This record gives sequence, structure tokens and C-alpha cells, in this order.
Amino acid sequence: MISIEQLTKVYGHGDKATVVLDRLDFRVDAGEIFAVVGPSGAGKSTLAQCVNLLERPTSGSVLVNGENLSQLGERQLRAARRRIGTIFQSDGLYSRRTAAQNVALPLEYLGVTTAEAKRRVAELLDRVGLSDRAGHYPHQLSGGQRQRVGIARALALRPQVLLSDEATSGLDPESTASIVSLLKELRDDLDLSILFITHEMDTVLQVADAVARLDHGHIVESGRIVDLLRDPASALGRALRPARP
Ligand code: ATP
Ligand code: MG
Repeated sequence: MISIEQLTKVYGHGDKATVVLDRLDFRVDAGEIFAVVGPSGAGKSTLAQCVNLLERPTSGSVLVNGENLSQLGERQLRAARRRIGTIFQSDGLYSRRTAAQNVALPLEYLGVTTAEAKRRVAELLDRVGLSDRAGHYPHQLSGGQRQRVGIARALALRPQVLLSDEATSGLDPESTASIVSLLKELRDDLDLSILFITHEMDTVLQVADAVARLDHGHIVESGRIVDLLRDPASALGRALRPARP
């Protein structure tokens, strides 16, 4: 579970200070996909960075399974980062490493034995449906396949939480659909809490259990998808409803 409590992030100081996240509150339960939508500059990536601890919140807290990550020292922070998997728009794969070697990286850093890493990589590639592509280099894979290798790598250290920042943006509808169904499988099989950041409303409708709309660092509306769709007064509900042909 991810709990965000009064999370505030300010960049800069004095009269140059910008409040990028302003006292956000929300929770992503285990086994839930929570989408965050909002215009460019709304603070979505900053939120992701505060959750995966690349940025320190200015105030407020981020809790993963009850542990307050905002109060950890450097060494504890490194351990905590392992419990959070992240995938980005760019897959971030090493071009000179095969799919299998990319997935193995976090295990190598952790000093997992070669035999154990091999077993684990095979299991991970199987989970993302790429067992037959283990020896392929990134340029020999489609965008959707590369993204799935990125997901396998993010899962290597068995995180409890998965963050996705625009991971399906720029993919064609079919590849997006394959990533969406994979994320739902992971949600159900591994009981992950998934924070899914996107600007694509149709993807939210396909993937998310709940959604929040972020604007200028504020959550302006949020709720469970089923409730929003039923509520004629909800702006998010209107934006989510597929256009009738
Ligand atoms: P996009 O949809 O374009 O990816 P976003 O919602 O992810 O946008 P952020 O990247 O979180 O937006 O940026 C939010 C605001 O914070 C922007 O105004 C940006 O200029 C500012 N910002 C982001 N990172 C920093 C930084 N390291 N230092 C100063 N300002 C920053
Ligand atoms: Mg962003």
C-alpha cells in the first residue's frame, strides 16, 4: 500500500519558490491500480519522484506498507528504493545488453548468485510473455516488448509497489493494450500497488481502479472509476466516458 499524506514539494527558494505539489492526500491499496492524470506541468512526474525517493518531499509523508519513507537515512533509503519498481516512457534499457541481461542488472547489483539470477530472469521474462526473446537486443524488440522488458526488470527485486510514469505514452493501441493487461495481471497475481501516471484518458479507463486529476499541484477531483462514470456531475466521469460514435 502507498499512502500519501499532505505531500508537498517546493522547488527553489524565496521569491523564486514554486509549489509543485500542494498537500496531496491519497492512498493506493495493495491490488489496486491508481491513475494520476493531469496536464503537462501539473506535477505528475514530481509526484512519482517523491514516491520512488529520487526527490525528497519538502513536507508531508510517503508511506509504503506503513513505513514512512520520508524519514529514512541514506542507507535505509537505498534498501527502501528496492521495494519500489519504476517504469518510464523511455524504457531505459541498455542497448548493448540482451533482454535477459537487462533484467538481470538489479540482481547483479545486489550480488545474487549467477545460478539464482538466471532462474529468476527466466521466471520474470516468462511472466511478461517474452521467454522467446531473452537473447534479443533492445533494437530487435518492438516498443511494447521493450516496455515489458522494463517491467520485468522493475519486478526483479520483488517490489511491493510499481510506479509507471507515461509508460504507455507513445505506444500504439495494441502495445498499450498488452501493457495494460500485463499490469492488471501483476496487480492481481502479486498484489501490487500500482501508481499509473498518464495523460491518456482512454488508457485510464482500460487500466485503473481509481483515478485522481492533478492540476497545478492540487488534486482537483478523484474517485473510483465505476463511481465517476455513474456521476453525471463529475468532470472526470465525463472525460472518461468513451465518445459515442
Ligand atoms: P508532463 O505531463 O509534461 O510530464 P508533469 O505533470 O509530469 O508534466 P512535472 O515534471 O512534475 O510535470 O513538473 C511540474 C512542475 O515542476 C513544472 O512546472 C516543472 O517546470 C517544475 N519542475 C520539475 N522538476 C523541477 C526541478 N528539478 N527544479 C525546478 N522545477 C522543476
Ligand atoms: Mg511528466
